[in-house]
Amino acid sequence: MKNHILFVDDERSILSSIKRAFRKTPLNILTTDSVEEALELIESKTISVLVSDYTMPGSTGADLLEKAKAIRPEMTRIILSGNGDQEATVESINRGAASRFLAKPWDDAQLINEITDAVSEWKKRVFLDTEKNLLNHTSFLEIVDGKISAKSAENYALAYFGFHDFERIQDRIGRVKIVEFMKHIVPASMNVDACVALGALDTHRYCALVSLSESCVDVESEVRELVDQFPLSTEFDDQKIKFSYDIGFVAVDSVNTTASSLLEKSITAYRHSCDLNGQTVIEYKACMDERKNSLNALENGLDAALSDNEFVLYYQPKINANDGSVHGAEALIRWNSKELGLVQPNDFIPIIERDKAIIDVGQWVLGEAAQQWMSWYGVLDENSTVSVNVSPKQLQDNTFIKRLETVLTETGIKASNLELEITESLMMEDIWKTISMLKDIKSLGVMLSIDDFGTGYSSLSHLSLMPVDLLKIDRSFISPMSESKESRNLVNNLIRMGHDLGVEIVAEGVEDENQLNILKEYGCDFIQGYYYSPPVPAEEFTKLVGQFEVSRVESELVGFRAAG
Ligand code: C2E
Ligand code: CA
Ligand code: CA
Repeated sequence: MKNHILFVDDERSILSSIKRAFRKTPLNILTTDSVEEALELIESKTISVLVSDYTMPGSTGADLLEKAKAIRPEMTRIILSGNGDQEATVESINRGAASRFLAKPWDDAQLINEITDAVSEWKKRVFLDTEKNLLNHTSFLEIVDGKISAKSAENYALAYFGFHDFERIQDRIGRVKIVEFMKHIVPASMNVDACVALGALDTHRYCALVSLSESCVDVESEVRELVDQFPLSTEFDDQKIKFSYDIGFVAVDSVNTTASSLLEKSITAYRHSCDLNGQTVIEYKACMDERKNSLNALENGLDAALSDNEFVLYYQPKINANDGSVHGAEALIRWNSKELGLVQPNDFIPIIERDKAIIDVGQWVLGEAAQQWMSWYGVLDENSTVSVNVSPKQLQDNTFIKRLETVLTETGIKASNLELEITESLMMEDIWKTISMLKDIKSLGVMLSIDDFGTGYSSLSHLSLMPVDLLKIDRSFISPMSESKESRNLVNNLIRMGHDLGVEIVAEGVEDENQLNILKEYGCDFIQGYYYSPPVPAEEFTKLVGQFEVSRVESELVGFRAAG
């Protein structure tokens, strides 16, 4: 970002000798003898240092410095004072309108030194990283405000961007090294020429004001140029780190706007981009605000949901395919919100997964489910299990094993009665780290299952390395089974290969008898789905178990009579 030093003096001869003095320096000098023009330049250009004469016709230098301070508080302001101005100069400095004064006549070398120092003072105030011209938040907004209010014909877009799934990258690299890593990537891999100003909002989120071509018709592709060179992986600290970006942007189309409202809009678009798979550039649309408001309502309410006891667990039975007995239950969380009613997990888990709240909520789920199983003692078979969904964020937390041990000791549940469901996507992260962590869990005796199996990319060969007990075949394979031979073959193969690896198979989302019969024929071990029951509150689950038991005994009797 180019910056200028502005000299203001009503004596043209003084301005000429200043220009001469700076001719051989790399500094960009602007001069004017008019206060009005000075103010216009301050509004439209990036001025790092303002040097003003004290006595000016029609106005005083002090006046100009005051106004300049209001427009660009970050600018270094200096008074160039002659004899007789001393008292007033001191007063201006005391009021903060200027930081120091230079006396006329001056020595060229000394003047150049003073101005060079003043420019670096300005840089320190404005940039987060002076070497890389990364502006801090305030300066970025100020500069954008200046650009959009200047009466120029230039068109801009404001873009907000970050690394997709940053927490994953941070977990791999570690909190200490992440700052260094970010410096390694940004802005080195960015097309900095494409932007007028580049700001950093925190360690991993940036904003850029992009100057659009005169006849721009496709703003998105011009914004995309910013990250054209962005690599999809890099070597850092002897590791290969894969990453991608999320970008939201807004075209600056009206002068009646402010930098901060543009930034808000680009952040809203960015949030939408984050929900996709990375490498997406999304333009802000007014309808996005609606979703933002409802998300805000969710976020606000979620903060207190745990302490206000608003979470509840529902339980869905897992049925033994061989004899129809209840093998156990999967605990599924709901949020019973005072304002919003019963909220389903797909609507709030992703929100709490964004920060560390998932760790506390997940811990509550573990404790609650274990305690519930204990209270079913005598109702459920002693070898039955209660299974709990565990978010990858929980598992990646170093305290997870300790927390798990605490649940076991505090509730008294036997480890083999507790099952953790982990998603396949976790296994893809860092396979060796995952294996070692799963082994730690397994060494406690807790059961492990892979949830939503088949939806990710993990192969069965990975699976053979994992100490897992069960595989849950995702509903998306079960639903089309009745119509599609291909799906049936796939499910059949998954069951067979799973059994070869010594793991048991659960089919998820079984909704009708036809699916059930096919699965039984293929030798599937456990069935879960609406065919038997949707997830229900704990009290209802107790009743369900009784009913299942009665109908199981009845059907056994029928079979016995038929055989007899
Ligand atoms: P999931 O672990 O795959 O859970 C199965 C989901 O399928 C549940 O949705 C369940 O109600 C639904 N389902 C069960 N049988 C059928 C069926 O026959 N047909 C259809 N159409 N759906 C069926 P739910 O309860 O809304 O949970 C959604 C997801 O939220 C869960 O998917 C799980 O990933 C997540 N979740 C739920 N509770 C927790 C929790 O305590 N912690 C974490 N981290 N995630 C949770
Ligand atoms: Ca599950
Ligand atoms: Ca599942």
